[in-house]
Amino acid sequence: MIKNDGFSAITSLKKEAGEVIFDPGSGVPIITYMCLKCGYIENYTAQFDESWNS
Ligand SMILES: [Zn+2]
Repeated sequence: MIKNDGFSAITSLKKEAGEVIFDPGSGVPIITYMCLKCGYIENYTAQFDESWNS
């Protein structure tokens, strides 16, 4: 398993008037680990640390 550099994100979705709208300004920051052999991915919520503020 390889840790992907930096953060990724799961983008929020909204439902409005029966339509599904992606909201790229909102979501869950995640850290992604992946296996280059089989493509398996694990995601964990990113822990905010001091680097987030700089
Ligand atoms: Zn694998």
